[in-house]
Amino acid sequence: MEVNDLIREAAKKIETPFLVLDIEQVKKNYLRLKESMKNVEIFYAVKANSHIEILKVLRDLGSSFDVASVGEINKLLSLGVSPKKMSFGNPIKKEKDIAYAWEVGIEYFSVDSEMEVEKVARNAPGSKVYARIATSSSDSDWPLSGKFGTDIDHVISILNWANRHGLKPFGVSFHVGSQSYNKYKWQEAILESSVVFNKLLKNGIELKMLNLGGGIPVQHTKPIPTVEEIGEIVDDSIQEYLWKHKNLMVITEPGRSMVGDAGILVSKVILKSRKGSKKWIYLDVGVFHGLMETIENFQYEIQIEGKNYDKTDVFTIAGPTCDSVDTIYEDILLPANIDYNDIVYFINTGAYTVEYAAHFNGIEPPKVYTIDELKELIR
Ligand SMILES: *Cc1c(COP(=O)(O)O)cnc(C)c1O
Repeated sequence: MEVNDLIREAAKKIETPFLVLDIEQVKKNYLRLKESMKNVEIFYAVKANSHIEILKVLRDLGSSFDVASVGEINKLLSLGVSPKKMSFGNPIKKEKDIAYAWEVGIEYFSVDSEMEVEKVARNAPGSKVYARIATSSSDSDWPLSGKFGTDIDHVISILNWANRHGLKPFGVSFHVGSQSYNKYKWQEAILESSVVFNKLLKNGIELKMLNLGGGIPVQHTKPIPTVEEIGEIVDDSIQEYLWKHKNLMVITEPGRSMVGDAGILVSKVILKSRKGSKKWIYLDVGVFHGLMETIENFQYEIQIEGKNYDKTDVFTIAGPTCDSVDTIYEDILLPANIDYNDIVYFINTGAYTVEYAAHFNGIEPPKVYTIDELKELIR
């Protein structure tokens, strides 16, 4: 998404920080993914951005949803989304939340441990469970392994365990890591998934679902594989490794790639200073107010209103709170003449930004405006 005249004008008139959302872009992203993965069902990972207009547009396009909590389930139910279109994808759930999800009609549950299988069996007897393989998150900017998923042999025994506990062992899931730069990661993971499919088939259990997780990248500062390229690899890999399994239900859970390029975070320089030889820029947003992912050095493109990168200097940029962790980037190149009150845009920040924002230090999270709301506001 690009900074346009509307956003420029708003940045001058409206109190910063705020996030602008282009809901049309979300629609385009959904349709493009649908076109690139024709027989794949899309379950939007709500955690990337749960803004109500995003959920509504995806609902209207026929999307399904990957949910992680009762809060997300209730939000979708209140928008009239059928529980049949939700999957409880968090492998770490409270028992009462499993019971609630089952009671309202959710059928799919993610597991990656024996105990979680037992919890699901107690509270959602007979439901469909899928187990998560751990894939290496190398080549991605935001790892989702380690805490989640397990090795192939363990996944096989977890699905057998589910079978013994009266659940329906339904499928295999994985996540290649969020913002993955390597399209072959999907191939690797589908090959690994096929080992589980084949082994269970030998035990007389026919799995029905392959869950491709998320991981599709958004354009920031490095080149990325396109959705079309990833779609092709996925398609080829399924043909090659899972051809034995007819009528396979394939789903994907995009978060970042649905909303990342549908947002721009608008902020302002509130202080410029020097400590020893280091030059510092302080903004009215930081790690606790939308730029959480920068703690793992996630790189956003930064534009400064009216300034260009012809002549640059090295700065450390930080947020406004009283915590050193609230340092966005150390030693990055910014326009040398960046100054007090300059407007700073963080490009393609629709995913995992405001969703993480807290009230730390009594500072409000950034306001969120859709393009339409912005038009109204500056009329
Ligand atoms: C976060 C998450 C996703 C979304 O991942 P992206 O990289 O944002 O597309 C998908 N599935 C699960 C289970 C997740 O936890």
